[in-house]
Amino acid sequence: DYALYHSKFHSKGHPVLFSKEHESTILGQRKMEQCLIDANLEEELQVHYQPIVDTHSGRTVGMEALARWNNPQLGFVSPAQFIPAAENLGIISKLTTILMEKALKVASSWTTDTYLSFNLSASDLASPETPLKLMAIIMRSGFSPKRLVFEITETTMMVNFERANEVLRPFRDLGVEIALDDFGTGYSSLGYIQKMPIDRLKIDRAFVSDLEAKKISRDIMGTIVDLCSHLEIKCIVEGVETHKQLELVQLLGCHLIQGYYYSKPLPTDEANEFLKQNTNASMNDWQLVS
Ligand code: C2E
Ligand code: MG
Ligand code: MG
Ligand code: MG
Repeated sequence: DYALYHSKFHSKGHPVLFSKEHESTILGQRKMEQCLIDANLEEELQVHYQPIVDTHSGRTVGMEALARWNNPQLGFVSPAQFIPAAENLGIISKLTTILMEKALKVASSWTTDTYLSFNLSASDLASPETPLKLMAIIMRSGFSPKRLVFEITETTMMVNFERANEVLRPFRDLGVEIALDDFGTGYSSLGYIQKMPIDRLKIDRAFVSDLEAKKISRDIMGTIVDLCSHLEIKCIVEGVETHKQLELVQLLGCHLIQGYYYSKPLPTDEANEFLKQNTNASMNDWQLVS
């Protein structure tokens, strides 16, 4: 249509026409950005925790920290929206440090050896100060770096491979593991995997949703799982929702699972409760077999 054609081909230095929809999206984006700038982030940001389960032992081995923003004006805003906005506004460092502080405080209270998986964005790695701030927060928390995992997307890792490597080295030296997140949605250069400083690989949930219907998806996942096992990289499958999907993923050789099938991301109290019940359950199993 004309508006689209016009904005696509005549936007440079010319007035641009938008459809009503397009206009409201831009206004919504502006409003969200303004709320983010004005927000009391200490108060409005929360962390939810999603279990990562080892199907061999039935135990929750890890929890992924996922950011939640509850704004008095906007209500809950998805991290898929506000994280990129915070990056563009140049304020992601503030969010990352607040989230890290909160997540480590909660994880330090766990009585299990469950690891904490924490997402970092490209700007976090590119920033001259953020890595130092994170290091200080980790040290102050008393939480063992050996129980910490940084999740970094393929795209982030590839944008500046040398820089990512350099920034991550001191953390890896302390025992922090690196997980390649959303694997299969970015460049997916298999050749790069062996050069990357990674300990874990998280297969994106896009593959899981196609698993039942498409043989090609099963073949691809099976190949990735095999590759990981040859390279001694731990493989986690994200987005398992049904029992059928769980069976297929296990059949393909992967036993580290994250998804709604086990649990959605949980607020602090419910996450603590989940861990408690999970520990009790596996201890009972252990008593039965021993
Ligand atoms: P991600 O790191 O890949 O996190 C997994 C996302 O998949 C989460 O969405 C989770 O709720 C969702 N998910 C997990 N299992 C299932 C399932 O079985 N079915 C479906 N439909 N979804 C599932 P969420 O919490 O909305 O986060 C979206 C993205 O926002 C994250 O993707 C991550 O890239 C980013 N993000 C979240 N928290 C942070 C953070 O603290 N820092 C940074 N830099 N990024 C974050
Ligand atoms: Mg993640
Ligand atoms: Mg992911
Ligand atoms: Mg994702």
